[in-house]
Amino acid sequence: MRVGILGGGQLGRMIALAGYPLGVRSTVLEPGEESSAGQVCPQISGEFDDFRALYELARASDVVTFEFENVPVESARWLAERVPVFPPPRALEVSQERLAEKQFFASLGIPTPPFAAVDSREQFDDAVTKIGLPAVLKTRRFGYDGKGQAVLRTQTDCEVAWAKLGGRPLILEGFVQFDRELSIIAVRGRNGQIATYPLIENVHRDGILHRSIAPADNPGEELNERAAEYASRVLSELDYVGVLTIEWFQDGPRLLANEMAPRVHNSGHWTIDAAITSQFENHVRAVCGLPLGRCDAVGHSAMYNFIGAVPSITEVLANPDAKLHVYGKSFRAARKVGHVTLRAATADELAEKLPEWDRQFERISGDVV
Ligand code: AMP
Repeated sequence: MRVGILGGGQLGRMIALAGYPLGVRSTVLEPGEESSAGQVCPQISGEFDDFRALYELARASDVVTFEFENVPVESARWLAERVPVFPPPRALEVSQERLAEKQFFASLGIPTPPFAAVDSREQFDDAVTKIGLPAVLKTRRFGYDGKGQAVLRTQTDCEVAWAKLGGRPLILEGFVQFDRELSIIAVRGRNGQIATYPLIENVHRDGILHRSIAPADNPGEELNERAAEYASRVLSELDYVGVLTIEWFQDGPRLLANEMAPRVHNSGHWTIDAAITSQFENHVRAVCGLPLGRCDAVGHSAMYNFIGAVPSITEVLANPDAKLHVYGKSFRAARKVGHVTLRAATADELAEKLPEWDRQFERISGDVV
C-alpha cells in the first residue's frame, strides 16, 4: 500500500515511520522545500490548493490522509474524487470551525461548555450577558495552541479583546473551572471496527501541550467508558476512518468536549513507546483497510514536549527511562521540535518518579544539541 500524507510536520513523519514495518510506503505533500516528514519519505513540494501537486500526490498514493486539520476542504474533496481520502473531508469541515464543531457535539448529545456565536458587537454584548464572565472569546477558524483567543474576566477585558478580535467570526464560551484536561484517542477501521486508547491527562503551558500522562491518573472505569462512548458517536456519525482525538475538560463528574482533531495527536505520542500499538500505526492500519491493533497501555508513562529547542541528547538519554524523539526541525520559539516519553511499570512508580522527571523536563534552557 502507498499512503499520501497532506502535511510534512512531525505527525506526518511519525505516520510515515509507522508504515515501514507494515510494508506501507508514504509520500508527503508539503508547501516548503524541506520538512520533518520529508526527511523520512519522498516529498512533493507544493501548496495544499495546488491541483498539479495534489494530482501528483493522488498518482503516488492508494489512499490519502492528512496530518493537520487546516487542509482546505475543497482540496480533500477534489482528491476524494480520484483516490480514497480518510478521514472523510466532512470531518475536516466540522473541526475547522469552532462553532460548527460545538454544534456538532451538541447534536450528538455530547456535553460542551456553554457557547454562543459572535458575529457583531451587539451579539458579543448579548453573549456576555447570557454566558456571563469569566468567558473565553475565540476566533472560529485557524485557532490552535491557544492562538486567536482571549480570556475575559472584566468589562475592560471585553473591550480589549473586541478591539483585537472583533470583526472576524467568533465564538464566546463559558470559562470552565476544570479540575484537569483530558483527551481520548480513538480509531475506526474501514470496516467500522472501533478501538480506543485509555484517557490521557494533559497539562498546557501558554496554550501549548507541555506534559501528558497515560493512562490518566485514576479516571475510573466510568469516565473512560463515557469518553469512549462519546468518541464512538462522533466516529459513527461521520462514517470516520482513521484516528480521531477529542479534548475534554473534566469538571467533577462532568466531561465537557473542548475540541476534536481529525488526526493523530500530540497527546498520543506516548503510544509509540508505551502502548501495544501506536496511534500512528493504528492510523496507517485504519486508512489502509487493515485490522486494528490493541490500544492497551504498557505500564504508565509521561510525555514531555520540547518547545523551541531540544536539550542536550546526552543529558536526556542519561535518564535510562527516557525515549527521545527529535523531529529534525530548526529551533524556533513556540515550535514543537521533539518530545520524550518515560515509562514506569506501575502508577505508584510513576508517581514516585514524576517530580524528578518534571524537574528534568520543566522547560528547555538554551542548552541545545
Ligand atoms: P483550545 O485552543 O480551544 O484548545 O484552547 C487552548 C487552551 O485554553 C485549552 O487547552 C484550555 O487550557 C484553555 N481553554 C480553552 N477554552 C477554555 C474554556 N472554555 N474554559 C477554560 N479554559 C479554556
